[in-house]
Amino acid sequence: MFKDDVLANVLYIDLSQKKYWVERREDLFEKYLGGAGVAIQLLKEECPAGSDPLGPENPIIFAVGPLTGLFPLASKTVAMFKSPHTGNLGESHCGGRSAVALRLAGYGAMVIKGASSTPLYLAIHGDRIFFRDASALWGMTNSFTVGRIIRQNEPASGLRTIMRIGGAGEKLIPYACVTTETYRHFGRLGLGAVFGSKKLKAVVISGKHSLPTRDKNQYRKIYDQIYKEAVSSPVMKKYHDLGTAENILPLNELGGLPTRNLKEAKFEGALNISGEKLAEGYLGRRLACSHCPVGCIHIAALREPYEDESYFYKTSMISYDYEPLYALGSMLGISDTEGLLKLIDQIERIGLDSMSTGVILAWATEAQERGIISEKETQDIKFSWGDYSSYIKAVQFIFKQPNQFYKALARGVEYTSQQYGGEDFALAFGGNEMAGYHTGPAAHIGLLIGARHSHLDNGGYSIDQKILTKEKVSPEKLAKELLTEERWRQILSSLVVCFFARGIYTPEICSVTLSSAGFDIAKEDLLGIGEKIHREKYRFKIQEGFSLDNYRLPERIFETPSLVGKINKVFMDKVVKCVNNEIFK
Ligand code: SF4
Repeated sequence: MFKDDVLANVLYIDLSQKKYWVERREDLFEKYLGGAGVAIQLLKEECPAGSDPLGPENPIIFAVGPLTGLFPLASKTVAMFKSPHTGNLGESHCGGRSAVALRLAGYGAMVIKGASSTPLYLAIHGDRIFFRDASALWGMTNSFTVGRIIRQNEPASGLRTIMRIGGAGEKLIPYACVTTETYRHFGRLGLGAVFGSKKLKAVVISGKHSLPTRDKNQYRKIYDQIYKEAVSSPVMKKYHDLGTAENILPLNELGGLPTRNLKEAKFEGALNISGEKLAEGYLGRRLACSHCPVGCIHIAALREPYEDESYFYKTSMISYDYEPLYALGSMLGISDTEGLLKLIDQIERIGLDSMSTGVILAWATEAQERGIISEKETQDIKFSWGDYSSYIKAVQFIFKQPNQFYKALARGVEYTSQQYGGEDFALAFGGNEMAGYHTGPAAHIGLLIGARHSHLDNGGYSIDQKILTKEKVSPEKLAKELLTEERWRQILSSLVVCFFARGIYTPEICSVTLSSAGFDIAKEDLLGIGEKIHREKYRFKIQEGFSLDNYRLPERIFETPSLVGKINKVFMDKVVKCVNNEIFK
């Protein structure tokens, strides 16, 4: 890497002491590129074994990569921490302006340590760092309002990122998210609660550093090639036109859309929650993360009359993606488009992870149907598939936690089902609530073995559709497919490239772009680096108690037919065993 590249600057901030300093860490960036690769090393250095995820010893790491700010779609930031939701590796990715802002502020990574005794927010404007009093913001449950106030008080409009939490993070709900630029999130695994535990309401970052490149002509040539592909490929056009919501109808047609707590995999109301319906009736604007020409972010404009007023309306802007539409739509049987948007909006404002929340509410509905819980536990709510207003009320109760039942729901579906029963239909994998794919065994094994229990770890749902629907494969082959994909994705999340561009950023393009950024790495060597990063993540997971010798697969996934028919449990167990052997050999 270039000797003067700001990428090697790691900004350390100690919230307990209100101190900060910068260290040059070429050692980490040269070996692990950036993003996830560097973040896991910093997490290992800073997080003592067995730390309380909500204690001051749990650090928050943010990291970007060598392509950030230089190439299109290198638009994501990796956050790493110990997860209060699973108790092991916490990793979450987010776009918005976060990545470009961090790099242009002059840093490749940032480590936030300790905890403040009073609420504060951090303002990082290049090398000027401020610990701002956030007493007036603390207690503000709506993350939109927090963003609006900070926008009025900080400079660098148009350049800055504002990462902040709503009420859920303050209440330490372990699946609380961090919101950036109003519509993007570090959604999964509870970064919001870690912010809350440090009394950290927000982090604002801006800067104007320039970035070095090796050969201007060569750089321009590769840049243009990537840009052209990004704006002309049919896949990217799909993301631009309808966003990820485009996936609802095809997945439903195939029979892989989890519906009513996965009692079914086809939803009769799919059209009403589809990208097509939302675009035609509600699309208010499209947005893009910084330095992305695709713009897959879709925002609905929901116009509602004020109660008791004639001709007075309020318009809420609500972002929607495939995952919230599945988790809060088909999973809860909601086909009322506006009702679904209202529920998404409610969850967004408080700052909960919408996927976890939807899966938890789906479990609660089935548990009440089966008589496992009664209206005594639910505080008179009668959950009923499709009744969005009862779910809006329940979200308020999860936030306020008026009784033991809602306190349990606020800890996730794994914990609640351990307390009340109904584990067979509690849809969590490795402690994290499931993503929206019932495509076959690879989707579910992928969630279980993925280092962060995310569908994006290894894209198991895609392996189901591309391979398993066409041919029978051995457990060894499926294990290899999943691991190879996850190891390759470590490179993309170290660079840090949006996974939607994974078809563009081939090993060859990664190697050439890295060369422009000052890194000489042959394409053949990239997978080896990816494997190393993946092993490091697993080492951390195991140190914190995760094991593939002892796992739970919810019975429900074996009961409801998927794209490849009923899933065979013996086959799944064999795949997990193969993965386990390979990771620990
Ligand atoms: S494709 Fe979408 S998520 Fe990815 S960088 Fe672009 S706007 Fe962000």
